[in-house]
Amino acid sequence: LERTFIAIKPDGVQRGLIAEIISRFERKGFKLVAIKIVVPSKEFAEKHYYDLKERPFFNGLCDFLSSGPVIAMVWEGEGVIKYGRKLIGATDPQKSEPGTIRGDLAVVVGRNIIHGSDGPETAKDEIALWFTSSELV
Ligand code: ATP
Ligand code: MG
Repeated sequence: LERTFIAIKPDGVQRGLIAEIISRFERKGFKLVAIKIVVPSKEFAEKHYYDLKERPFFNGLCDFLSSGPVIAMVWEGEGVIKYGRKLIGATDPQKSEPGTIRGDLAVVVGRNIIHGSDGPETAKDEIALWFTSSELV
């Protein structure tokens, strides 16, 4: 069954949105197969966002991801990669529809509270980066 990597970023954790976000994935019917709380190092954040290394916001983005606790999760279900992104909403919360996580709960692109893998390859890579196989149910 399809799996995706979802992370609640430090702003989402700090704002007390863990339960709210998990609840949306649960209510949809997706299954939580791994979860942990971690403070990623800057080096780890750079690995996670490696594909964006040429972007002007890369350094600030990695500083931010490593600035506090992150909830790292793996969710499973039919179509979870694409539909998970739908639940999350557009990258820029100003362009996210109401009803989506970013649309309902975030305001600016640099503090958009949640990450979701953008395709099957990245899902596979990100799950392997954040979790060992023994941490997955
Ligand atoms: P994520 O990978 O976090 O799920 P995404 O796939 O919607 O988000 P990406 O293009 O992968 O968007 O960008 C990764 C993250 O970089 C975004 O979630 C956002 O926090 C940040 N980001 C993207 N574009 C900008 C920008 N123009 N200015 C500042 N930060 C940005
Ligand atoms: Mg992305």
